[in-house]
Amino acid sequence: MKEKNIIVLLSGGMDSATLLWLAKEKFEDIYAISFFYGQKHSIELEYAKELARMVNVKQHFIVEIPHLKQLGKNALTDDSLEIPSESYPDEPPITTVPMRNLTFLSIAAAFADVYEIENIGIGIHSLDSPYPDCRAEFASATEAAINSSSVMVAKKKNRIKIYTPFLGMSKVDIAKLGKQLGVPFEKTYSCYKGTNPPCGECATCIQREEALKSIGLR
Ligand SMILES: [Zn+2]
Repeated sequence: MKEKNIIVLLSGGMDSATLLWLAKEKFEDIYAISFFYGQKHSIELEYAKELARMVNVKQHFIVEIPHLKQLGKNALTDDSLEIPSESYPDEPPITTVPMRNLTFLSIAAAFADVYEIENIGIGIHSLDSPYPDCRAEFASATEAAINSSSVMVAKKKNRIKIYTPFLGMSKVDIAKLGKQLGVPFEKTYSCYKGTNPPCGECATCIQREEALKSIGLR
């Protein structure tokens, strides 16, 4: 039996696309939410729109977050900082956007509250991600905070769940699952540099290439 509904954080990359296709199997109604936060690779939003259309989501919300560009000091939103052409050299890397997933989840939670959505899906994978806000501890702490501030939860005495099926997985595991689910990886995008075609040398391009190679797509 499918669960009632979910809102999926959709970047347009292969992880969130796989999550979207998985959600299609597990939930009746699917909403998607994507963010323009001043990222150099905002071209990803066009891919997100197409993916959301393909699975026939109930609604796809696109939300602008202006302060992450203003804040700068990270290579994804700060024009004075170059995206490194190598795999993640530091941990956390210069491509870490401060509080990004916390900000995304709190905004998604506001939509969940208003639209009475009981699950928030995020495609974080902790096995091979260098980002602190991609870990189990972060997800469970955020879920607790969301439930304690939700109007819907206060009224209906239910729970909002943060759905993180990829937490214990690697990018290669996600690619394998995506292949099984029939995810159109050619319609996904993740390059940090935002070039078309993708640069092939930034950390996310490297990880993506490895994952796609592992399932015979290169
Ligand atoms: Zn790239």
